[in-house]
Amino acid sequence: MIYDYLIVGAGYSGCVLAERITSQLGKKVLIVDKRNHIAGNAYDEYNEEGILVHRYGPHLFHTKMKKVFDYLSNFTKWREYSHKVLAVIEDKKVPVPFNLNSIDIFFSPKQAEKLTNLLLSKYKLETKIPILKLLETSDKELKFLADFIYEKIFLGYNLKQWGVKPEDLDRTVSGRVPVFVSRDDRYFQDPYQAVPLFGYTKMFKNMINNKNINVLLNTDYKDILNTIKFDKIIYTGPIDEYYDYTFGNLPYRSLNFQYETKEKEFFQELTQVNYPNDNDFTRITEFKHITGQKHHNTTIAYEFPEEFIIGKNDPYYPIPNEENHNKFAKYIELAEKEKNVFFTGRLANYKYYNMDETVGVALQLFEKTISKV
Ligand code: FAD
Ligand code: UDP
Repeated sequence: MIYDYLIVGAGYSGCVLAERITSQLGKKVLIVDKRNHIAGNAYDEYNEEGILVHRYGPHLFHTKMKKVFDYLSNFTKWREYSHKVLAVIEDKKVPVPFNLNSIDIFFSPKQAEKLTNLLLSKYKLETKIPILKLLETSDKELKFLADFIYEKIFLGYNLKQWGVKPEDLDRTVSGRVPVFVSRDDRYFQDPYQAVPLFGYTKMFKNMINNKNINVLLNTDYKDILNTIKFDKIIYTGPIDEYYDYTFGNLPYRSLNFQYETKEKEFFQELTQVNYPNDNDFTRITEFKHITGQKHHNTTIAYEFPEEFIIGKNDPYYPIPNEENHNKFAKYIELAEKEKNVFFTGRLANYKYYNMDETVGVALQLFEKTISKV
């Protein structure tokens, strides 16, 4: 049989396109993934103790895009969930993004009032200010606060997570978690915040439940190129790997996840506690807070950041900086010359996409291009 599309990667990018191509165009696709499961980095599973965990770190769905939320709602019911995060600073835990409540927890009532009034004299309530922007202030007292937040929340976390200081990366990275002039402790303010009621993997199974979709796991696509017949490729793996690292490899950060199950109902007060300054790990996630699962034990995951080394670990985070952007641009030039190969996703586009952006970009690729070829 001849497949219309060979799709490399069974994550959001690959599965959304497989779903669209089969349900809208009636074509046949083969999805290949070298891992032993579908759902890419959003994969979740029940561990030995029967607790639902995310294998690749906490995945919290949030979006402003109604279209993306409506699309995924075809394949899952949702459990409403608003993410909140605490960061350990010295002997205290404060909300992150750092906000007016964080100020109250960390500073004396008098100093907190002064700093809050200062912020409110310069910014409207609900304003978000990237830390690198706040550091540029010429106001001495505001600079004191900016330095404090930079030192306590960002510097140590970045050195662990990325191996460099915040200012050595594209500003959008630390800008993901801006200082928030607000009393809203939620990590995101998007109108849609929820997790799939029966888990991400189940949602993916529903998405690709079509007789014209075949899935081949534990397989590198290169190993089947000569045995499978197909017309076109959709590639969602690392773009530098596709081109045999012609222009050198694009660097990534990786993570080592360490899971522990505790014989108690809960380990910490909420899903995620960050450790910007202490320990080698960046954060501890407790999954039962996300899923709402009832169980007498609880599983947590520590995240230890590390360099990505080809063949040793997985490429999780593209590293956004000018040098890498320029290298990626050379790969894009090659990609644009392809007639029958389409590149999409966090790895192929070398972009720090959230899940909703990944889905949005895949839907757009389908609508603007694939549905027309
Ligand atoms: P992937 O999920 O990486 O899928 C690509 C697939 O291609 C992989 O399964 C890989 O095995 C396969 N592949 C690669 N090369 C080959 C090959 N040669 N042959 C066969 N298969 C191959 N987003 C959010 O919105 N909220 C969050 O809370 C959130 N948390 C995250 C936490 C972590 C630790 C990480 C790493 C990411 C997080 N994300 C989050 C981002 C989210 O995981 C991505 O946006 C999304 O998974 C990207 O989907 P994708 O299909 O592009 O890539
Ligand atoms: N960040 C930080 N301290 C924190 C939380 C975040 O310095 O306590 C910075 C850091 O650069 C991190 C980025 O903000 O990589 C984005 O954080 P996010 O929680 O979005 O990261 P992800 O969930 O994608 O790993």
